[in-house]
Formats: sequence, structure tokens, C-alpha cells
Amino acid sequence: MARLLFTNVKVFDGSDGPALPGEVLVEDNLITRVEHTVGAIEAPDAERIDGKGAFLMPGLVEAHSHLSYGNVATLEQQGDIPPEENVLNTIKAAELMLMSGFTSLYSAASARMRTDVVVRNAIDSGQFPGPRIRAASPEITCTGGLGDARLYHQDRTTFSLIADGELEMRKIIRTAWREGVDVIKLNLSGDGFVRPGNGEQTAYTEQEVAAAAQEAQLRGLWMAAHARSDSSVKLALKYGFRNIYHCDYIEGETFDLLEEKKDSIFLAPAIGMIYASVHEGSPWGLTPEVNEVIGYKKMLDTCPGVYAELQKRGLRIMPGGDYGFAWNPIGNNARDLEHFVELLGFSPTYTLMSATKWGGECMGIDNLGMIKEGWLADVLLVDGDPLDDIRILQDRDNIVMVLKDGVIHKRDLRYFDPAAADRGATVETAERIA
Ligand SMILES: [Zn+2]
Repeated sequence: MARLLFTNVKVFDGSDGPALPGEVLVEDNLITRVEHTVGAIEAPDAERIDGKGAFLMPGLVEAHSHLSYGNVATLEQQGDIPPEENVLNTIKAAELMLMSGFTSLYSAASARMRTDVVVRNAIDSGQFPGPRIRAASPEITCTGGLGDARLYHQDRTTFSLIADGELEMRKIIRTAWREGVDVIKLNLSGDGFVRPGNGEQTAYTEQEVAAAAQEAQLRGLWMAAHARSDSSVKLALKYGFRNIYHCDYIEGETFDLLEEKKDSIFLAPAIGMIYASVHEGSPWGLTPEVNEVIGYKKMLDTCPGVYAELQKRGLRIMPGGDYGFAWNPIGNNARDLEHFVELLGFSPTYTLMSATKWGGECMGIDNLGMIKEGWLADVLLVDGDPLDDIRILQDRDNIVMVLKDGVIHKRDLRYFDPAAADRGATVETAERIA
């Protein structure tokens, strides 16, 4: 049995309690003891890891992941990437996410039907390093909806699959199930990004959504919604969607309806994308004028108010900000934690709990997301205290150790063994299984 004993660490267990000095024992893929007295754990045959005061925490969970989006600048560019290159890019992105401290990803849509699925399977079988993945379908959208970039005279693909009417909806969900996805992603509302004002409109009829939900539920698939408009959020709630993204334009009784379902749903504002579009999008044509027209400038101003109310009502609000576009690339995902603190006004403790404990709940794995006896050993060591400054998680060099399922995937020798680092070694990663 492989044993690792972490000593001289400050333990953040994933709850809203304080981080306390302690020791943690990992045996195979499980955390088997957590103590807060120095020397309390005797494990003579364990490899001792002196954390030198590092912050030990559960692996981060991304709740709105687009691992396969390829950091493109337009939706049409996404469609131009052939499936083979798409898979290779996604494998690279998976390793980057793991090295950034994200040990789990909940996908909010895959660029192609099988990309999330094959990358998930390859990681699970040990072919490539990467996070645990809940694989999603592409964005299922209606004619004219978010992701339909066709012109009347010209066919074009993006990251979406188009389904109109109950029959097409049923067929596409059955197909996604056949191909092995865990999550069906439906674009229930439009988006101002592609058509000004469209974010406030609902894209599907109730009959179409009911058909989709029936098919998904028959097959045990989870459902996730792109839902900016008020009535799209209501539809998502009525038909049992588990992940409701954005919620920008909700009002009145929709807050009450969300609160009623707070124990069975997960929210993610995906504010990273909006922030980057407004403040950093100009080189890609997202000028201040464009952000005004597409409604993102206003959305950035109103989003904190919406989410302050939702937080007050006890909803699980999770980081995950549509990283995967040129101005908001994959690997920057920990920036959403800073947005939670700086833009939404959430405490660093709430933010970290959301990215770990609730992340485990969102992944649907009972013993994931906390540092507790019997829980899966997805563990980070961080040089610095993110509860003092949440931004330190954005610098990969501060994530000095990453364990997933008890396997060391990263050990930064510059931190643990400066002598080895002087000899030119920097980061040690797990042996790849050929
Ligand atoms: Zn998204």
C-alpha cells in the first residue's frame, strides 16, 4: 500500500471552517487520517512530505468547463478545427488544468460529440494525465440560437449541434447517450454575444424542453442549461435541470423558485468570460462599443446584485467562467475565484468551499472535495495562503504539489528540493503510462 504523510501543513478541509495546522495521511487513493496535533500520526513506512508550512487543500473543481474549445476567437473558428486536432488540443488542455490545481472538471459542453468522452476515458484509463471529467454533449441549440453560425446560403459548424422540434431533440439526446456523455447541455436562452438582445430571449418552446428532459431522465443523464433569460431559468427549474448557468436576467419569483430547489441544483455565473470580454476583449474586436451593444457591459454591472441575492438564499454558486476563448483562455480558470471575491463580494472561504466541497457535490461523487478521512485523495499543496490572497492560485508556480486519486501528478522541486532544482530539475510529474 502506498502511504504519504503530509506534515507541517495548514489544512483547509473544504468547509467554511478555518485552515488549521495539521498532518494528513494518504493511503492509496484515500485520505485516511487528519490530525491537528504535530506528531499525532505515526506512519513509519509512509513517505514523509514536509510541507514547509504550505496550505493543504482539496483539488479545485471547475463547474463550467470547456476543455475542448481551443481558445478560438470566433465560433466559426471552432467549427474549422478538425476532430483529430480538437482531441489533441483537449489532451494538452487537460494536463494544463491538472498542473493548475484543477483535479475535477464538470463540462458545460464539448466542442464535438465525442471529444469530452474520449478524453475522459483516456484519462481514466491512465493514457494521459488530466482531471476527473464529467463529459458533456456539444451545445444543443435551435436554428438561430447561440452556436448557429450558418448563413442562409452557406452551412457552417461551431461548437453546437442544432435541434429543432421534439423529434430532433429526442434523437440528439439519444445519440449523445449512445456516445457516452454524462451531461446534456442545452442552450435554453440566446446570447447577446451573437445577437444583441438575444440573451433576454428564450430559445426553445416548453414542448421541446419537456421532450429533452424526458429523454435525458429516462437514460440517467444530467442536464445543464445556458440560461440567461428569466423564462429560460424557469423552464430549467420546471424540467429538472441540475446545472443552471448565468441567470443574468432573472427577476421576481424566479429567485424564490431557485431557492426552493437549492439543494438539488448548482449555479455558475461564468463571470470570467464577461469580465474578460469587457476589460480585455478589444484585440479580438470586443471593443467598449461592442460590449455595450451585446449587453456584456451592463451584465457585468448587474451580475453582482443577482448573485448577492442568490447567495443570501443559500444557492450553491460555483466558479467556472467559460474559459476556452482567445481573450479568456484555458488555464486562467482560477481567475474566477478572484472574481468571486472582488466582483461578487463573496468571502475567500466561501469561494474556496464552493470550488472544492460543492465541486465534489456537483461532480456527483460522495467522497470528493474535502480533506476528510475516507475521502478521495485529490490534494493540493499551495505555497501561500489563498484565504489571505485568493489570487495566488492563479500562478501555477504556487501550486507546488498536485495529487489526484492518491497519485502525485506534480511535485515542484524548486520548493521541496532546491538542490535538485539547482541541478536543473524543476517539476516532477507522474510517470505516463504508455
Ligand atoms: Zn459556457
